[in-house]
Amino acid sequence: MLLWFVLGCTPDRGIQLPPTEEAYEGRRVRLHTNGNREICEGTGPSMEQMLSFLGRETELGDLDQPIDVYLLSEEQARETCGLGIDDVYACAFVEETNPVVVTSYLPTEHELVHAYLSLKQDVPRTRYAFLEEGLASVYGRDGSAAAPTTSLAEGLSFDRSLPLDQYPRAAHFMNFIIDEFGPAAAARVVLASSEARDVDALDSTFTETLGISTEALVELYEQESVSCTSAGWQRGYDCESPAEEWHFSGTLQLDIGSQCSSPTALGSSDGPSFERFTLDFPAATTVSIRMATPVEEHHATIRLTKCGTCDDEFSFVYDLSKGPLFGLQLDPGKYVLRTLYSSGQSEPGVLLFRQQ
Ligand SMILES: [Zn+2]
Repeated sequence: MLLWFVLGCTPDRGIQLPPTEEAYEGRRVRLHTNGNREICEGTGPSMEQMLSFLGRETELGDLDQPIDVYLLSEEQARETCGLGIDDVYACAFVEETNPVVVTSYLPTEHELVHAYLSLKQDVPRTRYAFLEEGLASVYGRDGSAAAPTTSLAEGLSFDRSLPLDQYPRAAHFMNFIIDEFGPAAAARVVLASSEARDVDALDSTFTETLGISTEALVELYEQESVSCTSAGWQRGYDCESPAEEWHFSGTLQLDIGSQCSSPTALGSSDGPSFERFTLDFPAATTVSIRMATPVEEHHATIRLTKCGTCDDEFSFVYDLSKGPLFGLQLDPGKYVLRTLYSSGQSEPGVLLFRQQ
């Protein structure tokens, strides 16, 4: 799934939204749909939790007003975002002083990071693209967490618009800054970067916020940050959430494939829907994974990702239609299990984790 960010590209002409109705109102987000799409029950609360986590991590605090998020069809979203790029179905921009997110899928965490940052600036201004997309990719987990394939030097040259293939490097670099200096400092760097218009100007951004020159920072990055090729650079509130309870000795039973009306269902009724569960393994273990119910209807995939930093990186994807899986070795710690239903037609099922 691809993501794009536009800030300040449209306020002059104003955006033209198709008719929508409000589907969810919370403290931090207000969700609108075009009427044809049901927003799954867990989506709004999940977006609230994500923004709350972002506020605590960055120490920029909670929001005073909700972010308006419009769920439209792919065609409508692309048209409204005005990007003309295939496969890009979401954007965030500032309409007068209100950040607005337009998207064709939910929960769209990546765009929420952009909107959140806009609300934390006195005057909405564009920020340095490579840094901002990095932060949005670390805290927004909509897309696949691919390994970086581009160089840092090249990425740092993009000040106001970042090509999609540069996102993983941006996220990897931002995760390094978070590890080294903390999330609050990382967020301060991004906000301060609205002054910087080219890579030379970034030097004063880094010096003022982190007390280090670009050259020294890049050197440190190259020395310290060699591992972490994919999902290890993402941070989510699930890793702080209480873990699922193991119901009986050695086996964890998870009800998956819940209907859109269930509080655990994320997404929308006609698009990809999924769930997230937090698992905790107090000691190193070997597990088997299988469905306790027939799997033909599910077409479900699971992704297990370890919480932590690049050093702890572990990400594992398994197609449940392949049958039981044996002998998966896991280090101790918390993991996030994500189910994916590509057809959007989830069927209730029971997933079993058994410690061998
Ligand atoms: Zn973005």
